Amino acid sequence: MATMTAPKRIPVDPFALVSRISAGHRLTVAEAHMIISTSDEQTLTLVSAAGLLRRKHFANTVKVNYLVNLKSGLCPEDCTYCSQRLGSKAEILKYTWLKPEEAVRQAGLGIAGGASRVCLVASGKGPSDRDVNRVSTMIDQLKTEHPQIEVCACLGILKDGQAAQLRSAGADAYNHNLNTAESLYPQICSTHSYQERVETVEQAKTAGLSPCSGLIVGMGESTDQLIEAVFALRALNSDSIPVNFLMPFDGTPLEGTWNLSPLACLRILALVRLACPDKELRIAGGREMHLRSMQATALEVANSIFLGDYLTSEGQDARTDLAMIADAGFVVLGQEGQDSAQIAQALHEAADHASRQPSDAGNANSSGCAGSCCSGATAGCGTGKAEPVLRRRGAGTPEIPNA
Ligand code: SF4
Repeated sequence: MATMTAPKRIPVDPFALVSRISAGHRLTVAEAHMIISTSDEQTLTLVSAAGLLRRKHFANTVKVNYLVNLKSGLCPEDCTYCSQRLGSKAEILKYTWLKPEEAVRQAGLGIAGGASRVCLVASGKGPSDRDVNRVSTMIDQLKTEHPQIEVCACLGILKDGQAAQLRSAGADAYNHNLNTAESLYPQICSTHSYQERVETVEQAKTAGLSPCSGLIVGMGESTDQLIEAVFALRALNSDSIPVNFLMPFDGTPLEGTWNLSPLACLRILALVRLACPDKELRIAGGREMHLRSMQATALEVANSIFLGDYLTSEGQDARTDLAMIADAGFVVLGQEGQDSAQIAQALHEAADHASRQPSDAGNANSSGCAGSCCSGATAGCGTGKAEPVLRRRGAGTPEIPNA
């Protein structure tokens, strides 16, 4: 009896594909499948090819973004990936709205660390009009103190008129992630719909806010669903695309879900870059634990990162973030013209100086990379799988932030 053999996949030449994309070709679904099925052995070649598009549109700059969690936890929604969800047992910081002065102070520390965009984020399905007034005050104060800084609001699903009010207050951008494929969404959340997410991004665009919308990968999506989500983001024409790698918090339904390898993360980033060549592509939450020692390599594809900590978990030490950028020959957006070797040397000296100071157990940012990197967890150190480390510094605490 004759045996069936699977049709042989013709390997894609990533450089030939990138050259066609550079000339205006739009990535097809078949090509997207070939990118994701690139072998581990060939993945760094794919990264090099994707890097040509990254450098064409963004040269060697890295945009540094800084998160301020304005309101943490206590959310009535049930997004399965989220440590702030209804019923989450994760022992995260829980607090209600920061005062505007405190939000501006926290943002200022991130700006001092090199951020050119501040992302003001609050938990919840969406803001009340009172919440929008409150955040508008923060944006106004922030823009008065730091007129050169971009402000992105991330407050959930918007109602009519709220996007326009945020724009009038001075917001530059609005973030609302599609997160995953429409076909997977009902398994990820039951309290709001994928369509509501799309509509919020459209409202932001209509109000003149720069749309920011991205993904969380590693939630059990199939390759078809991953490609579906990336092509939906392309159709949405989002200016910036954060790619989060699932941080499987204990106490959430996705606890213990580890579907990603560093090379798989690089292939996903390459897919987004080739599908959306001129968009800001941000390596977002979970980069430390999933990309591990390949974080700097990922900057050859992505052109944007968050500095320091995330909403409810700790990130890599901010100085390590900046040193990683400089060491790999990239420059922080807004600091072009500075010598990366000099920046690396200055960061090294600052870390060295900090490491000689008496330790302060309450100050997680006082000892440079060696002591403060993820509070002793391995997430930022490239040494294997690490559980998310819950944030205990910055917004909502008396401790100085990781910035
Ligand atoms: S992602 Fe946002 S809406 Fe969903 S549970 Fe978390 S805080 Fe609530």
